[in-house]
Amino acid sequence: MRIRTASLLKKRKIIKKGGLAVSAVTLIVTHKCTLRCRNCAALIHHFKSPQTMPREQVFRDVGLLMDKIDYTHILLLVGGEIFLLDNIAEYVSRVLEYKDKFGLIVITTNGTIMPSDEELAGLAKFRKYINIEISDYEGKSVYLKSLQEKLRRHKISCKINNEEWREWQQIIDEQDDEYAKNNYKNCLAAVDSNFLLCDGKLYHCGFLASGATLRSMPYSPGNHVDLLDAGTTRADIIKYKSPGSVPPGCKHCGGYAKDAAFIKKAEQLSEPREYKIYE
Ligand code: SF4
Repeated sequence: MRIRTASLLKKRKIIKKGGLAVSAVTLIVTHKCTLRCRNCAALIHHFKSPQTMPREQVFRDVGLLMDKIDYTHILLLVGGEIFLLDNIAEYVSRVLEYKDKFGLIVITTNGTIMPSDEELAGLAKFRKYINIEISDYEGKSVYLKSLQEKLRRHKISCKINNEEWREWQQIIDEQDDEYAKNNYKNCLAAVDSNFLLCDGKLYHCGFLASGATLRSMPYSPGNHVDLLDAGTTRADIIKYKSPGSVPPGCKHCGGYAKDAAFIKKAEQLSEPREYKIYE
């Protein structure tokens, strides 16, 4: 809690001085998952051949990000399911090269995999900087309690995420500009200063990030900020979050509004869900 408070104060101070400090950046390190949830906001249920991002690509992306921003309160490492991968501590140690530029690393898991003692001992070396968030997917998260206990033994902070699910960010048929404008206006991802980082690009949301890989919407440079382009400036990042610049991908998104209907958590599909692929 003390780290969080200090980090929020630091973020506020940087913004006051005119710097670019954001609330959170989510690094997608793998699309592989142990579950196939019908309403996954990262669209994992559409992937037929989910891949893990090459580690050097992830580390390159973190470097590109840190070149452009002054601070992020939280850096999240997510999948898919991150504990399908080994040596998560390597991600943490590489991110820590920029430890003046973030407050806390949050690692999220769905509680379906029990990491080994060796894995957790590796992470425990960085316990000062990390927090593990275990999603409670009502019965699917079979290791929820035992993982919590094991993390406690390794003195790694952890939090259970009991958040309810809503009908958010699903692929729909292409809508018109007016729909996209309203969708974006009501979107929770558009108003906060959270970003997703995947393959050298910053996105508003999992829908746009995974949609780019899946090609579930036509390609458009308006859907992301390209950190691989040497000409990209921090002004481009600020503009991307401005109310006037609607990503064209919002035409294909079912929305991410705070009043969307509640749904059953983590309902499973037996096969990847089909969708229209744009060439
Ligand atoms: S695609 Fe647009 S409307 Fe959908 S979640 Fe992302 S920013 Fe919001």
